[in-house]
Amino acid sequence: MDGNVESEVTSVLKSNGKVFDPAAVASEPVPPVVAADGAIVENKREIVLGRNVHTTCLAITEPDFDDESTGDKEAFMAGVLARYRKTLIERTKHHLGYPYNLDFDYGALAQLQHFSINNLGDPFIESNYGVHSRQFEVGVLDWFARLWEIEKDEYWGYITNCGTEGNLHGILVGREVFPDGILYASQESHYSVFKAARMYRMECVKIGTLVTGEIDCADFKAKLLLNKDKPAIINVNIGTTVKGAVDDLDLVIKTLEECGFSHDRFYIHCDGALFGLMMPFVKRAPKVSFKKPIGSVSVSGHKFVGCPMPCGVQLTRIEHINALSRNVEYLASRDATIMGSRNGHAPIFLWYTLNRKGYKGFQKEVQKCLRNAHYLKDRLREEGISAMLNEMSSTVVFERPLDEEFVRRWQLACERNMAHVIVMPNVTVEKLDYFLNELIIKRSIWYKDEKVRPPCLAADIGSENCVCPLHK
Ligand SMILES: *Cc1c(COP(=O)(O)O)cnc(C)c1O
Repeated sequence: MDGNVESEVTSVLKSNGKVFDPAAVASEPVPPVVAADGAIVENKREIVLGRNVHTTCLAITEPDFDDESTGDKEAFMAGVLARYRKTLIERTKHHLGYPYNLDFDYGALAQLQHFSINNLGDPFIESNYGVHSRQFEVGVLDWFARLWEIEKDEYWGYITNCGTEGNLHGILVGREVFPDGILYASQESHYSVFKAARMYRMECVKIGTLVTGEIDCADFKAKLLLNKDKPAIINVNIGTTVKGAVDDLDLVIKTLEECGFSHDRFYIHCDGALFGLMMPFVKRAPKVSFKKPIGSVSVSGHKFVGCPMPCGVQLTRIEHINALSRNVEYLASRDATIMGSRNGHAPIFLWYTLNRKGYKGFQKEVQKCLRNAHYLKDRLREEGISAMLNEMSSTVVFERPLDEEFVRRWQLACERNMAHVIVMPNVTVEKLDYFLNELIIKRSIWYKDEKVRPPCLAADIGSENCVCPLHK
């Protein structure tokens, strides 16, 4: 790896005389983790926060009066950027934990970075601001409308800043449709769902999950029956963040119906940030479709598709939007989005990739991801490492590495005793082999002494997937 970056960091730490102590930051007690059956799974684990960047930030300095003539400042800044670029290349090479496809080439779009493209307002109603990309945005939305089976004149949507914004919007639409509705979400839903509940001051009921990470519909049923007098707003996960689990949408709908909720008393938002764009291309996978009684679907654009900036797509039914939006004279457009100014570059990046790859291209990439994820899981198990891979997922959950430095090097995401690798199109078998070889060597060092044992993952991924000393 790029030794320069690390040594730069250490030297700055030293020169500042401050040594960053993660324990000092992360000393807040962690609430106990409670399983669906009410048992306390684990009492306390300190959440390890990343390094404090403030000791290594790049300060802004006032230009000197003769900077322009000497060119010193230009040269200094060029040097900083060149070093930063090297770090990006190195960090891109060692990235496995977050669901970002880092493999793309948008060279053709470089010519557009001189423009301040902004789609503020409604995508379908031109604003007075003319430097926009609505023609691309609506083209992309139509593509998603076809994917999720809704007619052009029946949907409304927009390109968001990220998957979170899609969730904030979908849940807001649900709340506007049912102002006294209760939000139901499985405990493995993304934190943005609970953030939405806090922001909108909604009553929120957490539902337990199965060992796969899917919503437990028996628990859902029990909780619905306790609140039959209030409409239900449900967040359904199409790929959970940690385990990549897909909630059974059809079973969720069936459960609602069985509990006496008619279609005009529930609203379903599908959080497809992670897997919403991959699932349509998985053979035999159940469908996310507006032919079913769902209210909205969102997806992240920078995950599977790959994009230099975060972005996402949110689609809902037009009838809901007509009810909640406001016309704004200042814009000569309509306000129905969460953000005001909206990134007008993002739709062009999405448009570019969708055009280039198409359904066929995505299908091939999804198949490759699933194949490589299976390869990784099988290799881990062959090496005697606890691992789980859900059927419709490219998220491989495995034993949390003992050493935080290793976790940082590979940018793994960890929770409790689990770590995961999310196999995206840029993750090749060669890269997985490189990672596996390192992991195997490190483990032989970590667990050389019999007294240090690999963690048990039975509570996290089931004893059938755990090969810790107790379960093998
Ligand atoms: C990533 C993710 C989100 C949030 O998306 P961002 O684009 O990071 O805001 C929401 N839900 C799930 C399941 C995710 O994986």
